Amino acid sequence: MRAMTDAPNLPGPTRPALDPPASPSPWEADPAARGAVGPGGSLVAVVGGGISGLTSAYLLARAGARVLLLERSLRLGGKILTQPLAGLPLEAGPDGFLDRPEAVALCRELGLESELVETLTTRAYRWEGNGLRLLEAEGGRPATGSPARLLSLRGGLQRLVERLEEDMRGLAPRARVHPLTPVEGVEPAAGAGFRLRLGTGQVVRADAVVIGTPAHQAAELVSACSPGAADILMEVRYLDLAVINLIYPGRPWPLPGSGFLVAERDGRLISGCTWLSSKWPHLDRPGCTAIRVTVGGSGRREWMRLDDATLVAEAHRELVLALGPAPRPDLARVVRWRQAVPDPRSLDPGRPTRAQAALPPGLALAGGGYRGGGIASCIAAAGEAAALARRHLRAG
Ligand SMILES: Cc1cc2nc3c(=O)[nH]c(=O)nc-3n(C[C@H](O)[C@H](O)[C@H](O)COP(=O)(O)OP(=O)(O)OC[C@H]3O[C@@H](n4cnc5c(N)ncnc54)[C@H](O)[C@@H]3O)c2cc1C
Repeated sequence: MRAMTDAPNLPGPTRPALDPPASPSPWEADPAARGAVGPGGSLVAVVGGGISGLTSAYLLARAGARVLLLERSLRLGGKILTQPLAGLPLEAGPDGFLDRPEAVALCRELGLESELVETLTTRAYRWEGNGLRLLEAEGGRPATGSPARLLSLRGGLQRLVERLEEDMRGLAPRARVHPLTPVEGVEPAAGAGFRLRLGTGQVVRADAVVIGTPAHQAAELVSACSPGAADILMEVRYLDLAVINLIYPGRPWPLPGSGFLVAERDGRLISGCTWLSSKWPHLDRPGCTAIRVTVGGSGRREWMRLDDATLVAEAHRELVLALGPAPRPDLARVVRWRQAVPDPRSLDPGRPTRAQAALPPGLALAGGGYRGGGIASCIAAAGEAAALARRHLRAG
């Protein structure tokens, strides 16, 4: 068995190289750059190259705005990270998204419709120590046939990131993507617009700004513009978790569904298990079984002291307890996420609206993750943030 650890911000093996930041930068602190190309040329800075920031930047660029996407790390995609294992496009972050109109429309627009795949089953279980119990919907019916379909892409969710990035690059020079460019703060500029202080020591001046980072990072970024909005955003607490992808030889267990959940009070290491080979058509290959185990994502933090090899061994031990005897996995990969997902107990549906209302016009929040949703919610929120930025440009 081989255990591999990947830092989420390392470039994945399939990522195309990104342009290094231009130096000296044509867009840096250049007063002539601002508004230089008329109303259609107003500059929007988008902070964060996860699905929220990328979608906002793409929609703005497509609508004719000049856009700078500023991403702290080398890799775009944020929490979306597809890492092939045994030739299968396994996800280290989200493994699907809800079939919401905005998400499907974006895939369609990016030419990804033919790559969409739907889950084979929604039958899910709970591991209760003495066995698996089928999760039941209201009325005692099995929790199958959920009204919202879960979708993915045949080559993995990274395809969405790649296609957004490609399309952005196709809109150059109006749209520019700058990896390795952390933003340290956003301040009101003298006159109008905003100044963005970069970790590179540079300053960007923009007519509007879209923030596509998680809530705690958004809070730091906007604190100079609105301490009130920063306080609201800081109320969202995040949970750490790890994803362990495992490849087993053959088909050691029958796996009649999409996986199982584990209640925190049961004191297990694993908090959930996804039977990837029976859940997704593109991950069902003869000769091997792909399983994804989630650890953490709750108040329990003991797992963080364990090294990767121990995490894999313990995950396997608990899978055997839940499902029955099986040979050890052939391959394993562990990815740890700090501040991975918002703690559902800290979510308040009215918070994003309150935070947005406390910000000056032209500064828009795109992060959909802290609205309690996942990718589909981020795409919808990114569309709203892009629309808000465009309205501001038109009004200015
Ligand atoms: C393990 C896991 C499983 C999940 N499962 C699902 C699922 O099955 N379905 C689903 O829909 N959702 C799921 N989610 C949630 C989903 O992944 C997120 O809601 C979504 O990807 C968040 O996207 P985002 O762009 O808002 O933020 P992120 O993906 O966090 O992206 C933010 C980006 O901003 C950058 N950044 C941060 N600060 C700065 C700065 N100061 N300057 C410049 N750049 C900065 C970061 O480097 C990052 O690239 C899961 C999340 C995790 C971690």
